[in-house]
Amino acid sequence: MLLFLRMTFPTDTASIWNRIDNIDPIAYGQTRNYIQGDVTYLSPYISRGVISPRQVAAAVLAKGYTTQQIQRFLQELAWREYFQRVWQQLGDDMFDDIRVNRTPLHSSQLPAAIANACTGIEAIDQGIETLYRTGYMHNHLRMYTASLVCNIAKDYWKLPSQWMYYHLLDGDLASNTCSWQWVAGSFSSKKYYCNQENINKYCNTDQQGTFLDHDYSVLPSMDCPDLLKESSRPSLHTVLPTTALPTIDPSLPLHIFHNYHLDPQWRADEPANRVLLLEPSHFKQHPVSEKVIDFIIALAANIEGLQIYCGEFSDIPFAYQVPAVYTREHPAYDHIPGIKDPRDWMFPEVKRFYPSFFGFWKKATPYLKDLTSSPLQTAAVC
Ligand SMILES: Cc1cc2nc3c(=O)[nH]c(=O)nc-3n(C[C@H](O)[C@H](O)[C@H](O)COP(=O)(O)OP(=O)(O)OC[C@H]3O[C@@H](n4cnc5c(N)ncnc54)[C@H](O)[C@@H]3O)c2cc1C
Repeated sequence: MLLFLRMTFPTDTASIWNRIDNIDPIAYGQTRNYIQGDVTYLSPYISRGVISPRQVAAAVLAKGYTTQQIQRFLQELAWREYFQRVWQQLGDDMFDDIRVNRTPLHSSQLPAAIANACTGIEAIDQGIETLYRTGYMHNHLRMYTASLVCNIAKDYWKLPSQWMYYHLLDGDLASNTCSWQWVAGSFSSKKYYCNQENINKYCNTDQQGTFLDHDYSVLPSMDCPDLLKESSRPSLHTVLPTTALPTIDPSLPLHIFHNYHLDPQWRADEPANRVLLLEPSHFKQHPVSEKVIDFIIALAANIEGLQIYCGEFSDIPFAYQVPAVYTREHPAYDHIPGIKDPRDWMFPEVKRFYPSFFGFWKKATPYLKDLTSSPLQTAAVC
């Protein structure tokens, strides 16, 4: 029950900052791999740009921890940044095999048993049901699910990654695509496997005799289990609300928010036309569920004077006549003209493509000392 409550996602700013205030970074480091562990449930807010990883790091460090004491926590925050940098550097090549070609061995679809949450592996089935119900899945369950799909059923990672992204409140194209590729072995030196013993340990289950109940040496050469052979093609379509054209004052700048940029503090004191832009062309390429759209719109309620517009940028009245257009840099929104404010990077100096997270982390380590502050204001914790 407690776990379920933590897996609900309030959208008001006070509750979000309260969640940050409750982080125990030491317990986090010790328990994060367990599905009942002390994880933060912050990803939907970080992914949507309501808060930045750097703000979270600064708020936790302000409690007096050293960066060494909470290194594990800081590393996990940095994984997202690492993947974002991969996207910035590779562009849309990120959506194809990054390092090793993994052409489909079985099918490029999704096992029906995964879509229907009936693989027979209790923890995974419950994880998928929870994903459908709440829009959240624990990191280990994401890894188990992806491993089952890519390395046991031997399906290609692309459509399954889109299926998971569709349902996640924290859907982040870089974290999602790169993590699926990491599990599938197209963005890592080897594929990730999990067996039943590992699942039992981290998910508090006690299953035996399943198709995953084998030694690790057996899993890579195993045939696809009958249960995973049937394929399905999930229907992934975004339903956007119908909205009127926004009312624009052509004498004021235009501030564009989007599904990855919902920071209520961003340029908050400036007189402007504020528009949350939900472009059908973006969601056609990267569909998300209705639950995700509702969540985005609920988070947008924190931004004063915001108008929601489901349409293309080019159709906004006076879009090209206003004195200036501002948004925040993001690879999915490069096409928005005007000024793109930088993101609140944890490590603004570490920009290059590194083939592994640890190469990136090594370069980032000298800058850990700078994390005690964020250029963005920290909201008061209520
Ligand atoms: C197959 C797969 C798909 C994934 N898809 C997404 C996705 O679409 N969006 C997304 O935000 N994360 C994704 N992740 C990463 C990770 O699972 C989630 O960020 C994490 O589970 C979020 O829960 P939390 O906030 O409670 O995490 P915590 O463990 O509390 O971590 C704190 C923060 O650190 C960051 N973080 C932690 N672990 C990771 C990680 N492995 N990769 C990147 N950032 C991390 C997140 O910002 C997270 O909010 C995926 C991982 C896998 C294996």
